[in-house]
Amino acid sequence: MYYNENTIIYFNGQFVKAAEAKTDLYSQSLHYGYAVFEGIRSYPVGNDTKIFKAEAHYNRLRYSAELMKMPFNYSTEQLIKLSYEVLKQNNFTDAYLRPIVLCSPNMSLSKGKECFLAIEAWEWTNGYLANKMRIMTSSYRRPNPAGFHIEAKVSGHYVNSILACQEAKDAGYDEALLLDNDGFVAEGPGANIFYEKDGIIYTPAKGNILPGITRATVLEICNELNISVVEKHFTTEEMKSADAAFYCGTAAEVVELASLDEVSFPKKWEESLCGLIQKAYKAKVLEQPLNVTKKVA
Ligand code: PMP
Repeated sequence: MYYNENTIIYFNGQFVKAAEAKTDLYSQSLHYGYAVFEGIRSYPVGNDTKIFKAEAHYNRLRYSAELMKMPFNYSTEQLIKLSYEVLKQNNFTDAYLRPIVLCSPNMSLSKGKECFLAIEAWEWTNGYLANKMRIMTSSYRRPNPAGFHIEAKVSGHYVNSILACQEAKDAGYDEALLLDNDGFVAEGPGANIFYEKDGIIYTPAKGNILPGITRATVLEICNELNISVVEKHFTTEEMKSADAAFYCGTAAEVVELASLDEVSFPKKWEESLCGLIQKAYKAKVLEQPLNVTKKVA
C-alpha cells in the first residue's frame, strides 16, 4: 500500500491527505500518458533526512516538462523545499518520492493548457538491494528516439516498460533487457545497465536511453576510484562474455545481474569492480566514507 488515511501529499498548491486528493477523469495525462514524473530517494544521513541528488532530479523534471511544452513554473529550489516538507509532514526518512506533473482536462492533442504538481512519498521498506537478477532480452524495443523525447521521463513511455517487464516475468525471469531500434543493448524497463570485462566497465552510450542520474553517479564513482569506463553501443552477444554486470537506477540502486538469457556472469561479485561500485554507491547515498580507495584487480 502506498498510502493510508494519514498520508499527506503536496497537490496543486496545498498539503492534503492522499486519500482525499482528486484528479480529473478528463485529463490529457490519463487519456494520453501526457504527464512527466520523477522517482527520487531519501536516506537517513546521521540524524537527518537527505534527498539524494535532489537538484538533478528536479532539473530533469523541469526539463521533461519543457520538452513536453507543459506550462510548469516551479523552480528547482521550490520543488526541493516542498519535497522535504512532504517527508517531514509524514515523518519519513528512508523514503521514495514520486513527483508528477499532470495536465488539466483537455481531449485535444495540443499542448497542456494548465498543469498540476503532486508530490507523493512512501516509506522505503525494500531495504538496500534486491536479490541478483536473471534477465532476458525482450522482444520489445525501446521507444524510437525519432518518435519520442526519450531522455525525458514521460508517463506514456512506461507502457513500453510494462510490456517488457511483464513479458520477462511471464517467461520466468526477474527483469527484461530492451534493445534500441538498431539492435544494440539499451536499458532495462526502469534502470540503466553496466557490465565489466577484463577490468573495464562498459555502458550504452547516450542517445537511445534515459540517461539516469544513478548512471551519472556510477560514472562519477568510476572516476573517483580510477576505474576505466567505456560508453559505447554493444550487442547482447558482447555482453554475454562479461565477467559481471549490474542494473542501476534510483529505486534499484546498484543491483547485481546473475545472467542474461541464461548465460551467467562468472566473476564472484565480492571480487568484481561491479561489487565495489555497489559498495561505493551505498556509501555515497548514506554520505559514509568508502574504505576502498584503490582500484581492485
Ligand atoms: N532508464 C529508465 C527507463 C528508467 O525508468 C530509469 C528510472 N528513472 C532509469 C533508466 C534510471 O534513471 P535514474 O537513475 O535517474 O533513476
